[in-house]
This record gives sequence, C-alpha cells and structure tokens, in this order.
Amino acid sequence: MGAYAGVDLGATHIRAVIGDETGSIVASHKTETPRGPSGIAVTEAVLDAIRQACDAADIAPTDVLAAGIGSFGPMDLAEGVVENPANLPDTIDRIPLTGPVENLIGSERVSLHNDANAGVIGERFYSDRNPDDMVYLTISSGVGAGVAVDGNILSGWDGNAGEVGHLTIDPQGFMTCGCGHDGHWEAYCSGENIPRYATQLHREDPVETALPIETEEFSAADIFEYAGEDEFASHVLDQICHWNAIGVANIVHSYAPLVVYVGGAVALNNPEQVLEPIRNRLDDMVMSNIPDIQLTQFGDDVVVRGALASALTGGTGDPSQRV
Ligand SMILES: [Zn+2]
Repeated sequence: MGAYAGVDLGATHIRAVIGDETGSIVASHKTETPRGPSGIAVTEAVLDAIRQACDAADIAPTDVLAAGIGSFGPMDLAEGVVENPANLPDTIDRIPLTGPVENLIGSERVSLHNDANAGVIGERFYSDRNPDDMVYLTISSGVGAGVAVDGNILSGWDGNAGEVGHLTIDPQGFMTCGCGHDGHWEAYCSGENIPRYATQLHREDPVETALPIETEEFSAADIFEYAGEDEFASHVLDQICHWNAIGVANIVHSYAPLVVYVGGAVALNNPEQVLEPIRNRLDDMVMSNIPDIQLTQFGDDVVVRGALASALTGGTGDPSQRV
C-alpha cells in the first residue's frame, strides 16, 4: 500500500492520520497540544502523533510517501514554521514543522497549509460537489477562509490570502478585533467574541435578559440556546447573522464561488441558526450569482482530511492530480 500522512495541528488537539492512495483513512492518533515549554515541544508532539498513527497502521514512518499539515497560524510558509501563535502561551514562539516531518518520513514531499486552506483542499478532494471555484469558510475561535479560484488554491503573500475574518464589516468599528483593528468580522462572530459582543451590546442598552451576561460561564452557546425565547438573545443572534451575511457577500463578490462550505465549531454546533440566515440574506446583498451555502460534510475532520488530500495531490486537492 502507498501510505500518506495528514496532520491537523489545532490549539487544543493534534490529530495525525495515515491514508492509502485513494485517500481512505486507515489509522489515526489524537493527542493534546502541549502548552509549553517551547515551540519544539509542539513539534515533538506532532512527530509523535505521526509515529503513533504509523504504529496503528502497522507501517514505519519512512514508509510514508508524502505528508500534509494543516495548522493554525500565523506561519512562514517558506521556512515551514508557525511563528508566535496567538492562541498558545507566549513561550511558544516558533514551531518548526516542515523540516522535522521531512526528516521523520525521509521525504521532501511535505506540504504546510493554514487550517482554512487545508479545509478547502479537503472539500475539493472529498466532496461530491467540487467545482474549480469554491470556498471553505470556518467560523470557530476565529473566522477564516480557504479559497479555490479557477482550480488554484489561493495562498498570497506569506500565505495570507483568505484572512476574511479581518474584513471590515462594520465601518462604525463597534468592536475591536484581537488583531487590534476595529470593525473586523471575527470581532463579532467568532466563538470567543460572540459573548464579548453580546456583553458590549448589553452595556450600551441594559435591557432585561435571561442570558448569564457578566458571568464567567457566559458563552456563545448561551446565545444560540436562548435565541427565540429571550428578546435580547434573539437580537444578538440577528446582528451576528447580519455580519455573517455581509462577510459571505464580500467573499462571493471577491471570489465568485459556486459553493461555500461552512465548518468550524460555531457553524457545526448550530448549523440551521448560522447557515439559514446567511442563505436568506444573500439575495438582497449580492449582484452576481448566488452560491450554495452548505455545511461541510466532514465535521471536525475536514482539516486533517485536507492535510491528507494535500499529501496525495501535491498540495492542490485536485483529485485528477493524484500522485
Ligand atoms: Zn482583525
């Protein structure tokens, strides 16, 4: 069997899979992402996850022909490293990935992508519907997109194409983004920022609400749970849907996709409440063709599948480019 490896490096978990030449996953290993002491500890954990997945597949790491990695950013693609990740402790400054994985498998066929790009590569390879023009949008602890245009996965300068979470969707700049700028999409709609946004709205207009606002436990899940029953929660969700629709409309006008696959915990946990309002609002916002807005079929696996698909297709996700 020709063996290929895919790795999803996330802020909480690392997952490595081994697949055959058709892209079927034959073994997998999941472990927690170390929170220190340094970036090398994360590198070691990635290598160990690949070794364990190889063990489970009953092969040696050197039997792996090619590997793909989907990771949080920011990254230096030329160096094959993640640099100063925002969602891990400050002591983790640099995580070497491409070089150490090349050494482990004894092959230079190792590709590194940010997680949203891995997502669109996964959709392109595994979806029943995989046109040349498509987008994978993740709404999770951040908002980001992987984009395929004319059959090419867009990368851009330093791999920063598709950083749509930092599109300005609110010119009033009511919320400040984690990046320091005002009015960015993910400052309103990411899983982390939804409760912050609700709290800020409530401070402006402290109406009666059943939401546990101003408590430690207050989370995005509360908004989705209380919406429909609690007037303020419904208002917050309506605003979030409004910003999501503006963001998706901007994506549609920028890239003209036939389909937008949506993933990430916020969408996966609340598919109807997130996707249906986007579908309903696009008609009033978009002057060109309206794409299908679909939930990813691959759930949490889309990034690791994309990493595996990248290994199989030389980083393109194009099933006809299988190597
Ligand atoms: Zn931003």
